[in-house]
Amino acid sequence: NVLLEVKNLTAVIAESKQEILKSIDLVVHEGEVHAIMGKNGSGKSTFSKVLVGHPDYEVTGGSMMFKGENLLEMEPEDRSLAGMFMTFQAPVEIPGVSNIDFLHMAWNARRRKQGLPELGPIEFYSILYPKLEAVKMDATFLNRNVNEGFSGGERKRNEILQLAVLGADLAILDEIDSGLDVDAFQDVAKAVNALLSPNNSVLLVTHYRRLLDFIKPMYVHVMEDGKIVKTGDISIADQLEKEGYKAISVV
Ligand code: ADP
Ligand code: MG
Ligand code: MG
Repeated sequence: NVLLEVKNLTAVIAESKQEILKSIDLVVHEGEVHAIMGKNGSGKSTFSKVLVGHPDYEVTGGSMMFKGENLLEMEPEDRSLAGMFMTFQAPVEIPGVSNIDFLHMAWNARRRKQGLPELGPIEFYSILYPKLEAVKMDATFLNRNVNEGFSGGERKRNEILQLAVLGADLAILDEIDSGLDVDAFQDVAKAVNALLSPNNSVLLVTHYRRLLDFIKPMYVHVMEDGKIVKTGDISIADQLEKEGYKAISVV
């Protein structure tokens, strides 16, 4: 089944109207892992953020469908409830909201959407606890405000905790490897792999090939100047590593 279908997508920066995405086509089926690679500034993060409805960008053309629903008509919150999840290259702080309250609220919002009764704090903790262990996060992080004072690595781990707890039909992971030491990196990759199933899909955005040794994509796309210029299998990533982005450039 098709999960995500993007056609001829163009988008500009909302403030300046500068065009960043210049016609993107992408189809992701259930159970697939896709990697998006590309030089710095090629538009990878912009594409990810446009998918989840980030307000800094405006879609100017094309279409984006998720599970047959028109993403362009959905608020970011509805996209999340529909099963999209995105980790940000620079995760945001949420002052005044503790990590555990944030997760609990998000969990119950999903329960309501499914017409299920909300869970109380104790029941929720029994769901949360095994996930904490899975991402090797200390329980003391639960009572701290979301990402406030967290190191770069702790923020990444915290986002993977959110993903592990809330689940996602489509997880969009933007540079989850950046700024992580090897141990943290392997924990994060393991936690992501544990989430993979025939029903859910991952869009892995990365500048570096290293991540793809740990989370194996079925398709690799290369972005350049706001377009996907090449699609293939992992051999593209090997070629990029050997010859650099110039070798596969079509412009
Ligand atoms: P990548 O993730 O591939 O490194 P980005 O999507 O972050 O690339 O950025 C693509 C281009 O768009 C860059 O030149 C970047 O400076 C520009 N850009 C993206 N978002 C903004 C913004 N909110 N304001 C100004 N420029 C932006
Ligand atoms: Mg970048
Ligand atoms: Mg980026």
